[in-house]
Amino acid sequence: MDLVLFGPPGAGKGTQAQRLVELLGVPQISTGDLMRAERKAGTELGKKFDEYMSKGQLVPDSLVIDLFADRLGKPDAAKGAIFDGFPRTQAQAQALDDLLARLGRSIHKVVVIDLAVEDILDRITGRRVDPATGQVYHVRYNPPPPGITVEQRKDDTEEVVRTRDQSYRRDTEPVLPYYETRGLVARVDGLGELDEITQRIREAIGA
Ligand code: AMP
Repeated sequence: MDLVLFGPPGAGKGTQAQRLVELLGVPQISTGDLMRAERKAGTELGKKFDEYMSKGQLVPDSLVIDLFADRLGKPDAAKGAIFDGFPRTQAQAQALDDLLARLGRSIHKVVVIDLAVEDILDRITGRRVDPATGQVYHVRYNPPPPGITVEQRKDDTEEVVRTRDQSYRRDTEPVLPYYETRGLVARVDGLGELDEITQRIREAIGA
């Protein structure tokens, strides 16, 4: 199954994607995670990504699409994947359709996790990540177990969150009608307990 998780940065796409991996038996493909890995490895590409990421701006389509296509071609994604944070522009949405079509596949559903910017700020400023595993936690809602060292993403500040939210509303939300006309969009409320939200997504995708 190929599933797109859509919604503003901080709505819980990454956390829910990690839960769906277990359930659906397909990998999560997060372009943000792929970029952070490049950045951490200190590659030239990683430095280029950082110029945009640290400001909360979108990385140019050509770079993102190449990175994504490479990941989609890996054997573990042969039966489907959960796309988290991709596509974010019309060009990326078109590229995703083309890449899947070449594999004889198509998008099953686009699940939009809806959340207001005030709720996002509350979540993002408390968000922590285990750098060893990529597991996402929250200081209050989903605290890391004792003994786990977590860190804060450097783009998880209020100023950067607001810029990322604006770029979502301006560049990414306008992609939705492209999917709506094909009847692919399901909206779920992103406010609530993690289990409740997972349940809402399961109902939306029929899993
Ligand atoms: P995320 O982890 O999905 O919140 O992404 C973190 C940052 O990586 C974004 O604010 C962008 O700078 C960049 N990024 C991730 N995915 C994309 C994408 N599909 N298109 C453009 N930029 C992206």
